[in-house]
Amino acid sequence: MSELNPRTKHREFNGVAGALGITVGLPLVLELFQLVCNPAYSTKGLHIDVGAIVGQLPSNLSETCELMFDPTVWKVYLAWFFGLVALDQILPGTQLQGTELRDGTKLNYTINGVPMSLLLVTLLVARLFQVQDYQLPELQFIYDHQLQLVFTTIIFSFILAIFVYAISFIPLRNANGRGTKERILSVNGNTGNAFYDWFIGRELNPRIGSWDIKLFCELRPGMLLWFLVNLSCLHQQYHQLGYVTDSLVLVNLLQAIYLFDGVLNEAGCLSMIDVTTDGFGFMLSFGDLAWVPWSYSLQARYLAIPGNEVNLGWWRCCAVLLLQVVGFYIFRAANQQKADFKNGKLNRLKSITTPTGSKLLADGWWAKSQHINYMGDWLIGWSWCLPTGFQTPLTYFYVVYFASLLIHRQVRDDMKCRAKYGKAWDEYTKLVPYKIIPYLY
Ligand code: NDP
Repeated sequence: MSELNPRTKHREFNGVAGALGITVGLPLVLELFQLVCNPAYSTKGLHIDVGAIVGQLPSNLSETCELMFDPTVWKVYLAWFFGLVALDQILPGTQLQGTELRDGTKLNYTINGVPMSLLLVTLLVARLFQVQDYQLPELQFIYDHQLQLVFTTIIFSFILAIFVYAISFIPLRNANGRGTKERILSVNGNTGNAFYDWFIGRELNPRIGSWDIKLFCELRPGMLLWFLVNLSCLHQQYHQLGYVTDSLVLVNLLQAIYLFDGVLNEAGCLSMIDVTTDGFGFMLSFGDLAWVPWSYSLQARYLAIPGNEVNLGWWRCCAVLLLQVVGFYIFRAANQQKADFKNGKLNRLKSITTPTGSKLLADGWWAKSQHINYMGDWLIGWSWCLPTGFQTPLTYFYVVYFASLLIHRQVRDDMKCRAKYGKAWDEYTKLVPYKIIPYLY
């Protein structure tokens, strides 16, 4: 094994068994969500009509294939995905460099989330005002084809993960055009076990030309589809009732703020663990393309089912809004403080010098807990679930799932920082003992 790409010894998620469980289990969870959010099977409070489901199950292989490979849905999804790829390449943006890689190089990124978002919103506004001269997409299509779209995004994420795994074995051409060089593999995805490496991500930053597949998938097709799925629920409710409920408007608004904050501040993603450390494999491909749009939209899809409408009234709306504002403030202020500190702007704050030469911030937000930003993010999650009321625990799935994701991330990050910073990390964790929630965890 080369010095550049050492063999991975530690396997996360309990190795192959855990990876297999996630690969099979999470797509099934998405299918379950699809069933419970389908007005054909689900009644008030998400009591599922099992008889109706069984009655409509495909009876043979060809019916199953028709469902999974609906040609119209595939055409629409491929146009969406590759249309966004084309825009990603065409639209102008700021040029930024990523973190230094193991071979001493830095990758260039075009940060164009702002023009991309403006274009999407312009198209939607044009659709709202019924600009008839153009063949603009119809939101109801998304609502009416959820089942097929869920299948399509899952299958597409499998295909993309196979593709990036395969290309990770092809050496890269040198910049001067002479000879080839090794690709940089993820420190987590080079075990030699094909299935595990495919799952966790073998190559750190798979790219085709200047198209960075990982950053693109993190912020574009899944996040923006989540926004459209939510809007399609509003569309559906308006068609059904002739009006929209405050709870569904609130969920749409709060989630739109969160997801556009991610898309518009994509520069911040360049320092996230997903970009700097994790490889791009099935875990991220499925997470970005299928899991985000179809599990994060659960609240909106629930509220759009006839009979599940929730009318919050102004003071409950304000309370939920306040919760999002508080969560957002903590989340953004903490992330910004760390970024500013790393850019040398906050040298007056208390810090610990590490053997690598860089410093650990032990002041401000980063003195309250080791991941105070995660706490802000989690509070935001609560503000998305509360508007669904208390008819079913299922719409609170997000906060339970997100808590486990954040704890898992914190444990991984703790291992990474201990290996990277040694005693300096121990000193920091002694000084700041709480991991996420001050005085609690
Ligand atoms: P962090 O932003 O907490 O970054 C952790 C890294 O920051 C460490 O590996 C270390 O990296 C550096 N670091 C940690 N402590 C300090 C310190 N005290 N001083 C200086 N540097 C420090 O974690 P993530 O990248 O996981 O998350 C980023 C944001 O994304 C979070 O707000 C999170 O909530 C959000 N998120 C949202 C998800 C969603 O699905 N909604 C999913 C995942 C994340 P190094 O020193 O090597 O630079």
